[in-house]
Amino acid sequence: MDKILATKIILKRGFKANAERLAKEYREKLNIHPCAALCAFKLAEYLQIPVYKITEFTTNQLHIELLSGKNGDEWSALTMITEVGTTIIIHNPFNSEARQQSDIMHELSHIICEHKHEKIVHDRPIPFGMRNDYNQIYEEEAKCLGSTLQLASPCLLWALKKGMNHEEIANYFNASLDMVKFRINTTGIAKRVNNTSK
Ligand SMILES: [Zn+2]
Repeated sequence: MDKILATKIILKRGFKANAERLAKEYREKLNIHPCAALCAFKLAEYLQIPVYKITEFTTNQLHIELLSGKNGDEWSALTMITEVGTTIIIHNPFNSEARQQSDIMHELSHIICEHKHEKIVHDRPIPFGMRNDYNQIYEEEAKCLGSTLQLASPCLLWALKKGMNHEEIANYFNASLDMVKFRINTTGIAKRVNNTSK
C-alpha cells in the first residue's frame, strides 16, 4: 500500500479538466454527440496522424506469432517520427478492438500533449522490445487523456443514468471492461449519478 502511494504520480493541476474539455472539443469537431463513442482511428485521421499496423512492417512468422499473443506476450503501440519528420503511430492489430482503441488513444494523447520521448528503446527483439521511453509523468498524462478521450465523463454519466452495467458500457463504447471500471473509479461518477437520482 505504501509503495503504491509513494509511486503515485500527481497530475498537473487542471489536467483532468482539460482532458474532459478536449474530449468534448474533438467530438464537436468530428460532429459526434458529447455522450457518444469517439473512434480512435477517426481521431487520428482528424489529427492527420497516419496509423499503421505493425504487420505492414514485418512478414517474419515468428514476430507475427509473438504479436498475436500466442506466447502470452503483449505489444500495444508506438509513436515514431519518420525520416521526413512526420509523426506516425504503429500498433498491434492482433489486440482486441477495445484494446486497439485505447492503445491508439494513448499514443494520440502523447502527441496531443507534445510529449517528447528520449529515444525508442530496443531491449528485446523487434518489434517487442520497441517502445517509447517517456518519463512517468508523461505516461500518467497519456493514460489520463487517452482514457478520457475514449470514455469522457458525459458518456459515463449518460450510460449510468440509462442504467447500463459495466459490460454494456464497454460494448457500447468499444472499450475494455477494465477501462470502464478505471474511468468510473477515477471520475467518481457513480456517486454523482446516485446523488442525482435520489
Ligand atoms: Zn505511453
